Amino acid sequence: MSVPTGSATRIVEEIRIHGIVQGVGFRPFVYRLARDQGLDGEVRNEAGMVMIKLAGAMERIEAFVTLLRAAPPPLARIDRIERTTLAGGLARGFTIITSVTGEIVGGEPAISPDTAVCPECLADILEPGNRHFRYPFTNCTNCGPRLSILRAIPYDRHNTSMVDFPMCTDCAREYHDPADRRFHAQPNACPSCGPRVRLIRPDGSLVSAESTDALADAWALLQRGEILAVKGLGGYQLACLGTNEAAVARLRRRKRRSDRPFALMAQDTEVVARYAQVSKEEELALKSPEAPIVILNAKRDHGLAPSIAPRQRTLGFMLPNTPLHYLLIEKAEAPIVLTSGNLSNEPQIIEDAEALDKLGPIVEALLVHDRAIVNRLDDSVVRVLADQACQIRRARGYAPASIPCPPGFEKAPEVLALGAHLKSTFCLLRGGQATISQHIGDLDDAPTRAAFQNTLDQYLRLFSRDPEVVAIDLHPDMPSVRIGEELAESKNLNLVRVQHHHAHAVSCMAENNLPLDISPVLAVVLDGLGYGPDGSFWGGEFLLADYAGYHRLGSFRPVPMPGGEQAIHEPWRMAYAHLTHAFTWPELAERYRTLPFIAGLRERPLDTLDAMMKRKINTPQTSACGRLFDAVAAAVGLRQTVTYEGQAAIEFEAAADLDLAELGAEEAHAYPFAIKDATAEDLTQLDPQPMWSALLDDLDRNVPIPIISVRFHIGLACGIDEMIEHLATRLGAAWHGQVALSGGVFQNALLFDLLTVRLRSRDIEVLSQQHLPSNDGGLAWGQAAVAAALALGRVSQCASQFPDE
Ligand SMILES: [Zn+2]
Ligand SMILES: [Zn+2]
Repeated sequence: MSVPTGSATRIVEEIRIHGIVQGVGFRPFVYRLARDQGLDGEVRNEAGMVMIKLAGAMERIEAFVTLLRAAPPPLARIDRIERTTLAGGLARGFTIITSVTGEIVGGEPAISPDTAVCPECLADILEPGNRHFRYPFTNCTNCGPRLSILRAIPYDRHNTSMVDFPMCTDCAREYHDPADRRFHAQPNACPSCGPRVRLIRPDGSLVSAESTDALADAWALLQRGEILAVKGLGGYQLACLGTNEAAVARLRRRKRRSDRPFALMAQDTEVVARYAQVSKEEELALKSPEAPIVILNAKRDHGLAPSIAPRQRTLGFMLPNTPLHYLLIEKAEAPIVLTSGNLSNEPQIIEDAEALDKLGPIVEALLVHDRAIVNRLDDSVVRVLADQACQIRRARGYAPASIPCPPGFEKAPEVLALGAHLKSTFCLLRGGQATISQHIGDLDDAPTRAAFQNTLDQYLRLFSRDPEVVAIDLHPDMPSVRIGEELAESKNLNLVRVQHHHAHAVSCMAENNLPLDISPVLAVVLDGLGYGPDGSFWGGEFLLADYAGYHRLGSFRPVPMPGGEQAIHEPWRMAYAHLTHAFTWPELAERYRTLPFIAGLRERPLDTLDAMMKRKINTPQTSACGRLFDAVAAAVGLRQTVTYEGQAAIEFEAAADLDLAELGAEEAHAYPFAIKDATAEDLTQLDPQPMWSALLDDLDRNVPIPIISVRFHIGLACGIDEMIEHLATRLGAAWHGQVALSGGVFQNALLFDLLTVRLRSRDIEVLSQQHLPSNDGGLAWGQAAVAAALALGRVSQCASQFPDE
């Protein structure tokens, strides 16, 4: 083939880009990039990817790919690029091919999460004369609502709650201009065509109707100490001044929320830094497009209302995630309290009528608007652990972004996993991608169970073809298990029951991208409770796990849980169970008779507890680490009863003197744990008995709780570390120097730091969770991966490591 002199060879290439590339402004970005490089061709959305055809000089195409990789649109995530050289030519010019079905072709939805207002849109709303000036619903392809307004796919305006707002000429011009930042921005809106804000009283009467006035008036009410309901992005919120103790205390009383901390919103990180310590990683998390609540160490004497976070050392801060929030607190010099608008134990409210009905009695006014919230999304919560931003609650800003499965899962059939009982989420796994629902909540109460079912129906409509396998917990009777059993039964699907702590271990392994055929991994899973196949409640587990199965190597020493569920609400029961398990009560009661906790126990119905434990009536055994924390928190006198799961443990961690922990000053006094070798009856056990002796002696000597907490945390970290060393020796060549850590207890920053430092100093590779919560919120993903591995025919290698057992 002859080439005309003076002209470079013209190449034609097809480039396929996989990842989060639809609904994030990818095609206009490609369009601009191709034109800058003088390339001809076209770009279109295909099933789960963007397809580009380019014609031009080789070096121009290379430059195009380099630039595309280096700086994709802010919300895009490129997983993989495939390039093929094509024969033939292409017409001159570059075109964006709009699919008939809008953003989605081939039935593969790609919905990006809701995203905080971007810097360009913020500049627009602050620029006098701009047509978006002070408009609270300004958005573009790089920011704004997504899942929260989505009713159906494809993600087109007519399938969102923006259907009620036909675009004006100016908005339509932006929407159709490939060079514009708002090209194909489905929720694009302006003051003349979009939603409007109103401020109303609880009786429905109007305070102000124009958006600008309503926001200014709402701010004036807040400053007077009033409580407001605010219709946020994914649900109603309750707001008051963070510096006004009377207002915060009133909000707590009216909302009937006794202890759980309230979140705060501040204008920028400079304001946040006045009240809390903000590291570089924490600042990045605060400013990220997901704009989550970030748990920060509070500064001493921060001056905010004490009722915001009673008995906590931390404060949860977020930055404004919508222009509405930004404009509301624009003039604030201190943070506002911004907590979810719901009644105790009910889901966050999204309907206007329900808000008036249920939040009306709590607030003095409601800042509302006329764009419907379709999907409920709580504010997400993140905590930086060992310099990594880790999910505590994954919802707004993150869901429904898919997570790529590890190598080997590409051909897995579609699996639906239904998660746990607390912090529930569910997971759809298909084609090597997992979609995990937003946090829905604890399934104790009917309204949350209804919300779970609604969200599940919605996800099955939006993201599913048809699950072939349903994965549930091993527990014989809980709501998520029943939903899974009924679904499998009615549709004749395979049902897989996955042990709780195996699912935790696998959730961590999968997040760390360990391939499907990985040889067994040592996993430490510490949490509140999970049903074990022996009918007891596990939760302090040392497992050898692969995707298809596990072998239980050891656990915390099991103790009785007198009263079953009641023992979760009343930590003093766990303390009594631990103490009577470690010592004889009369001896203990005599020796420590002056300790307030021991004296307090004498007033309790101990005979009944003794009888229950002796006859095993409503008294399951538990090895849960979370229950050990409860017991210790009760014994030191912090908390005899709790209003939410994990509260005693959280307050006991918060009590620790961090300076002492960091200085290592208490290392020598760390409480000892014992390791009991495996016997014919029992597995290897981590036994807290010696810890209890040292702790009671400290209490007897009036050692302050902050020091006791440090000594306990260091002792526990050392105990777990020694247990790992012990088991590793036993595993010999079957252990590969890796430890997977999962379970809600690892959200205890102090324990996590102490343990990981120890493990890493011995060159052990620590696998932990970051993108999914290590608590039960990440469980569904683990369940789905186990079920997928079994469906792919994997057989567990764990038990074969122990031929003689
Ligand atoms: Zn924007
Ligand atoms: Zn408009």
